[in-house]
Amino acid sequence: MKIIVLPGDGIGPETMAATIEVLRAASQRFGFELSLEHDVAGHDSLRRHGATVTQALLDKVRAADGLMLGPMATFDFKDESKGEINPSMFFRKELDLYANIRPSRTWQGVPHKVDAFDLVVVRENTEGFYADRNIASGGSEMLITEDVVVSLRRITRLCCARIARAAFELARTRRQHVSIVHKANVLKIGDGMFIDECHKAARDFPDVTVDDFIVDAMMAHVVRAPQRFDVIVTTNMFGDILSDLTAELSGSLGLGGSLNMGARYAMGQAAHGSAPDIADQDIANPFSLILSAGQLLDWHGRRTNQPAYVAAADAIARTAATVVEAGESTRDVGGNLGTAATGRAFAKRLLEA
Ligand code: NAD
Repeated sequence: MKIIVLPGDGIGPETMAATIEVLRAASQRFGFELSLEHDVAGHDSLRRHGATVTQALLDKVRAADGLMLGPMATFDFKDESKGEINPSMFFRKELDLYANIRPSRTWQGVPHKVDAFDLVVVRENTEGFYADRNIASGGSEMLITEDVVVSLRRITRLCCARIARAAFELARTRRQHVSIVHKANVLKIGDGMFIDECHKAARDFPDVTVDDFIVDAMMAHVVRAPQRFDVIVTTNMFGDILSDLTAELSGSLGLGGSLNMGARYAMGQAAHGSAPDIADQDIANPFSLILSAGQLLDWHGRRTNQPAYVAAADAIARTAATVVEAGESTRDVGGNLGTAATGRAFAKRLLEA
């Protein structure tokens, strides 16, 4: 498997180095070839190439089996005409990574304020209210007068149908339960179409239980009884917000993995940002990126029918639980190790798994 590695900004290089240590241990333990090719995106690329991402990089990613994208300082990138492109958006759009798979679960050893749970948010990733990806050219946010903004939301039948299918397929590998989250009481046409397509997809999965929740009420349900959810499917912005909530409910945003996947490509990416406030201090939690790398191996293994990658992904998920419970982690989740030592401890445990 060939993976393009883009360490990113802020805490990206530190957390990516720890992740690479784990990936190398996985390849050694499970006996698969792993070629990691480093390149740059974000501020490094802006300095070197005049743009945060380039066409040459995209071509390289297209020729590889997967991409690991470190956190990017996206807030700094405001003017596309100066090469300041949001790398995360760029890859999601160019590689048509329509499904953002964001698991969260509670962990032994990490305090959490709600009952124990294990769920996955399946978020549509290519349209909705996200102005940067729902229109081919121009912007979908308009300043009509100095005091009036119009933001357009795009919802298409195709994107609803394919994200619904991704959710049901995932549910089949878990506890066979899909919850649809929407706002069809107000966004009657767009979210109405989303619900219709989810129910249409459900017909092909009679073994999967389906229910649906209005997004505002869902905030109460997921805080009150998160254990009742298995796979949650929703549109782009609702999924963005809900998945940060579920990650934080699990104990920390730093414990949530995130995979962006499409029909041909996938990108592992931390759920958090570049955290400039703690960069270069060896205190950033690398788990989110490590868990995302595990998800990428799982995606590749299932797609190419190579069980070693799936077994490695499974071992990474199990090792994360062991390492967190043993306190071999960063301070934010109750441990006393630095970022690099956390990566080493994880790799060591994985080799023994
Ligand atoms: P952030 O997620 O970077 O940080 C929020 C808080 O969480 C900070 O206090 C930070 O120290 C802490 N934190 C984040 N990751 C952590 C980790 N791994 N270990 C320990 N603590 C961690 O959000 P922000 O400060 O709002 O954004 C900083 C930059 O990141 C901005 O430019 C923003 O646009 C960008 N961002 C990028 C992504 C992405 O690349 N996917 C996602 C969100 C934000």
